[in-house]
Amino acid sequence: MYAVGGKGQEGDTMSEADRRIVVLNTGSSSLKFAVYGLDPEAPALQSGEVDGIGGSAHLKVTASGKTTHDVKVSAADPHAAMQALAALSDGPLTGEIAAFGHRIVHGGPEFDHSVVVDAATLAKIEALSPLAPLHNPPALDVLKGLSKRFPGVPHVACFDTAFHRGHPAVADRFAIPDELYQQGVRRYGFHGLSYSYIAGAMKTQAPEIAAGKVVVAHLGSGASMCALVNGRSIDSSMGFTALDGLPMGTRSGSLDAGVILWLQQQKGWSVDRVEDFLYHDCGLKGMSGISNDIRDLLASDAPLAQLAVEYFVYHVARTAGALAVSMGGIDGLVFTAGIGEHSVPIRARVLQRLQWIGFDTDPIANEKGNGRITTANSPLAAFVIPTDEERVIARETISLL
Ligand code: ADP
Repeated sequence: MYAVGGKGQEGDTMSEADRRIVVLNTGSSSLKFAVYGLDPEAPALQSGEVDGIGGSAHLKVTASGKTTHDVKVSAADPHAAMQALAALSDGPLTGEIAAFGHRIVHGGPEFDHSVVVDAATLAKIEALSPLAPLHNPPALDVLKGLSKRFPGVPHVACFDTAFHRGHPAVADRFAIPDELYQQGVRRYGFHGLSYSYIAGAMKTQAPEIAAGKVVVAHLGSGASMCALVNGRSIDSSMGFTALDGLPMGTRSGSLDAGVILWLQQQKGWSVDRVEDFLYHDCGLKGMSGISNDIRDLLASDAPLAQLAVEYFVYHVARTAGALAVSMGGIDGLVFTAGIGEHSVPIRARVLQRLQWIGFDTDPIANEKGNGRITTANSPLAAFVIPTDEERVIARETISLL
């Protein structure tokens, strides 16, 4: 426990109501955060983001829907962004911090649940960095920086891969020698914190399918899909890295491995150049040559913009079919994340391609975009459920305290 901002002097008594859980979601160029009290189901007290890390970074904090801080900061890396956050005397890192909860993208083969971080677990998580070189190191930098700045406050690591660790072997492997599988070359699956939230939320928001066979489409700037049977993940469109599966804002999605060989052999591209290309110059942006934001492409009449949208829709529908086969049937589909929650035309077009399986879209409900969006008589049901990864991290952190 650590008190800053004038509280916690000797003799002060802290009430439970003063205690805070700080949730951190560290990306390579952004740091999102949310502050909760000890009731993880209550709305976050503060939230915000430092974006543009590495370039001209910007720190924004919101409380009760009002912006409390909106400043330019000097943030060369996520660790510097965290320091800028900690430097705000009346910011999110004040009050009595009971624990930090971190989103850690890769938990490797071992971590199938969240953990309180101690020296041994930190060493294990650090050893996983080669599996997620762009994602794990910045989150660990922030975790270690906060440990120094707030000594004694516990840290909980919540893994995006953990929710998928129960996949059957056929969904967990590539057709490569066992030796490489044992070394960690596996189909891990990601966005697990989001899928875990959706599996729980379906019980109240989509009770008719919650215990059934459901495909969840997490369609944001990163996008993947998951097969849930009775709320448990049995397969995912993402594999070894977050490059796999669906096309995304700037990531290619599944690509014949021969393309990578060709880029290296025929074009002489270095490993670093190929990596940068696959993560930042492909997907909707690369295909359209216009934008990574599907709203821009939907508004454009450029043929390549329209093709990129159609390619995205086609692969979401195709993956839903594949995951239905993984489950041996399908009862429903849930859309979530930025595109899934907000894009009426993308949902309509995906469901149009799936109409033959039994999804009859209710256009008015789809326009509203909240809850069930298929007709009452539709054989299969589709829903929109907003995801909340930060809340899952807050829940896990509190439950492990
Ligand atoms: P991430 O967490 O992966 O950064 P989000 O789930 O926040 O992504 O989704 C961000 C994406 O959602 C944006 O890139 C944008 O393309 C898309 N998006 C947000 N609002 C809309 C909207 N109204 N219509 C279509 N797409 C939207």
